[in-house]
Amino acid sequence: MKKRILITGGAGFLGSHLCERLLNEGNEIICLDNLFTGRKENIAHLMGNPNFEFMRHDITEPVTVEVDQIYNLACPASPPHYQYNAIKTIKTSVMGAINVLGLARRVRARVFQASTSEIYGDPEVHPQPESYWGHVNTIGPRSCYDEGKRVAETLFFDYHRQNGVDIRVVRIFNTYGPRMLPDDGRVVSNFIVQALRGQDLTIYGDGSQTRSFCYVDDLISGFLKLMETENFTGPVNIGNPGEFTMLELAELVLQKVGGKSKITFRPLPADDPKQRQPDITLARQKLGWEPKIPLSEGLDHTIAYFSQLLNNPASQPRPMKMPVRGMALN
Ligand code: NAD
Ligand code: UDP
Repeated sequence: MKKRILITGGAGFLGSHLCERLLNEGNEIICLDNLFTGRKENIAHLMGNPNFEFMRHDITEPVTVEVDQIYNLACPASPPHYQYNAIKTIKTSVMGAINVLGLARRVRARVFQASTSEIYGDPEVHPQPESYWGHVNTIGPRSCYDEGKRVAETLFFDYHRQNGVDIRVVRIFNTYGPRMLPDDGRVVSNFIVQALRGQDLTIYGDGSQTRSFCYVDDLISGFLKLMETENFTGPVNIGNPGEFTMLELAELVLQKVGGKSKITFRPLPADDPKQRQPDITLARQKLGWEPKIPLSEGLDHTIAYFSQLLNNPASQPRPMKMPVRGMALN
């Protein structure tokens, strides 16, 4: 049945893929975004569709729309972007959650929260199941994001218990694919863009830290399955359990792109988690979901996207002012 769906952060990397998928399924989409890290270009191909509407709005302010479902994705996700204005980041997570939950309660919409593996912090349990409570610094440069997302989860469950709001919470592990920003600062886009430009790939630390990378199409399928599943709120991990060191990732990108780039080593940012891998047992059991696209294949699609983008200067996003990395207080 056709639904009217609000997607906050809909002009961003993940949001634009979600808008596209839900629109293709015959729904009406309201894409809300303040265009901090999102781009109109990400949704330009959807603008002519009568079922698609763009609303320039900041989710720290209340919003009133009649909708059946809400996906709350508004929040910068890459460390340089969320550290650019740390106070704004935490306001976006906390006030954004309050605003979408208030709306969901008023219009009786099912509401989805894009939470994150960052709520596990620098984990002492590996891989991370949903039952793990995490190991998070409250006062470090990553805290505005990690703690903001943790409070957002708390708010979701309190609105659910106290007001009966119909919630779905997903914990997203590192995801990559077309429409990441080339100056995003995240590792996959950094390495690919550096390799395509013939620059050296910058590994922070010694490259032994691990991450598990999920291709965007797999992730969006997980979102839709969770939103369709009755009597299950989550939180549920969605990610690809394939675990790689940053050195392995750099070597794979170099092997695929070719060229003259080498690897250079830079200081490790404060509080950088040493390891991360989702335990997706719950997603398999409750949603019948698991990722299908291996890293090698997903990297091919992503390299093709960036190579086209870099060859067409007119389509390139304006570089964002890069922040000074936050100073560690511990
Ligand atoms: P992104 O930066 O591309 O998208 C975030 C979007 O939110 C952007 O379009 C931005 O303009 C918008 N936004 C930011 N602050 C806003 C505000 N105050 N009001 C309205 N819009 C605002 O990042 P993404 O990778 O697409 O991430 C989307 C969501 O998924 C985020 O909530 C992020 O925390 C979560 N997430 C992503 C990953 C990942 O690997 N991509 C991992 C974990 C969690
Ligand atoms: N990283 C790196 N080189 C880069 C960008 C990131 O070695 O150019 C490292 C970063 O220190 C971290 C990992 O890659 O250990 C993943 O970083 P990203 O910012 O993509 O995600 P997050 O740390 O939030 O998982």
